[in-house]
Amino acid sequence: MARPLIADIDLEALRHNYCLARDLAPDSQAVAVLKADAYGHGAVACARALEDLAPAFAVACIEEAIALREAGIATPIVLLEGIFEAGELELVDAHDLWIAVHSDWQLEALLAYRPQRPIPVWLKVDSGMHRLGFAPEQAEAVWARLAAAPEVVGEMQLMSHFATADAAHPAYFETQLLRMRALAERLDAPLCLANSPATLAHPEAHGAWNRPGVMLYGSDPLEVANEASRGLQPVMTLRSEIIAVRDLAPGEPVGYAGRWKAPRPARIGVVACGYGDGYDRHAVDGTPVLVDGRRTAIAGKVSMDMLTVDITEIPEAEIGSEVVLWGRAANGTVLSVDEVARHCDTISYTLLTGVLPRAPRRYNRG
Ligand SMILES: *Cc1c(COP(=O)(O)O)cnc(C)c1O
Repeated sequence: MARPLIADIDLEALRHNYCLARDLAPDSQAVAVLKADAYGHGAVACARALEDLAPAFAVACIEEAIALREAGIATPIVLLEGIFEAGELELVDAHDLWIAVHSDWQLEALLAYRPQRPIPVWLKVDSGMHRLGFAPEQAEAVWARLAAAPEVVGEMQLMSHFATADAAHPAYFETQLLRMRALAERLDAPLCLANSPATLAHPEAHGAWNRPGVMLYGSDPLEVANEASRGLQPVMTLRSEIIAVRDLAPGEPVGYAGRWKAPRPARIGVVACGYGDGYDRHAVDGTPVLVDGRRTAIAGKVSMDMLTVDITEIPEAEIGSEVVLWGRAANGTVLSVDEVARHCDTISYTLLTGVLPRAPRRYNRG
C-alpha cells in the first residue's frame, strides 16, 4: 500500500476555466499562462489539454518554454520576462518563441541580432507596477525603433501589468489603464493588459490579447467574487487519507508545542500530508479541510509528513477516510484553495505552486 497523498488534476475543469476566460472577452485572444509548471499543475499536461483551445501559451523563462517544445508542444509561446541574457536569442529563434522586451539591454541585444525569421515582440511598459518595463514616455521611441527593424521584429503588442486589478475599489487600476490606453492610441498599437482579475472583473481592460493565469486553475483572485468568478471550477484536488485516530481527554494537547488542546473529549484524525509535501505550515487551528466530504478543521501545528484534524463531529471517520486539503471531495463538496490560503495568511498562488513532487500528480485525461 502506497502513501495516500495525491494531487488530482482535473483537465476538464482546466478547459472549462479557459473557455470561461475566453468567453468573457469575445474580442480578445487569451494566452494561457503556464509558468511555474502551470502553477504547480504540470505544464506539459496542461499545455496538451489546452492545445486545441489556446492560440498561445505564456511562461516566465526560456527553460520553461523549451520543456514544452521538447514535449512536442507547437503552440506559440511568449516569454513574459523576455530573455535573461543575449545568448538566449538563438534559442528563441530556434524554438520559434515570442518575447517580452522590458529593458534597454534587451532592446539593444534584439536589434543587434539577425534571426531566421522575425521574432514577435510584446513591448512591456511600466504603467505603475514599477517592476519591469519602459516608462510610458520612453515607450514611443522604443516602439519606433522596433517597428523600424522588420527583419528582426515580427508582430508587436503593447503589454503592461496591473498592481490592483483584484481590489474591490481599484483606483490605481484606472490610472494604469488610462496611461496604457493613451499610449496605445498614440501608437495605434494592440494591447495586452488583462491578468485573471482584470479578465474576470474589468472588461474595459480587455485588449487584443489577455493573459489569464490563476483563474485557469480555478482560483478566484478577486477580493470580492463576481458572477463570472463563481463559475470557476477547481482543477487541483490535494487529497489524502486518515492514517491514525486518537481519542483525547479534555485539555490534552496535539502535536508540536501543544498548540491545540482538546476543549472537550475530542477525536483527532492524523492525515498523511505535511509541509514536506508543500502544505503550508502557517495553517492556523481552524483551517478548513474535508473529511469524507464534510467540513472540519486543522487542530495542531502542521508537521513535515502529517497534520491533524478534529473529527469529533464526524464519528464515522476512521482510518482510510478521504481527506481533501483543497479541491473537490468524492461526494462533490468543494473546498476552495482561496479559503485555505486565507487561513495561512497567503494566496492560492503560493499554495498551488508550493505542492512538492512528493505529492504525485494524477491526471484525469490523456
Ligand atoms: C503571472 C502573470 C500573469 C498571470 O497572472 P494571474 O494573476 O495568475 O492571472 C499575467 N501577466 C504576467 C506578466 C504575469 O507574470
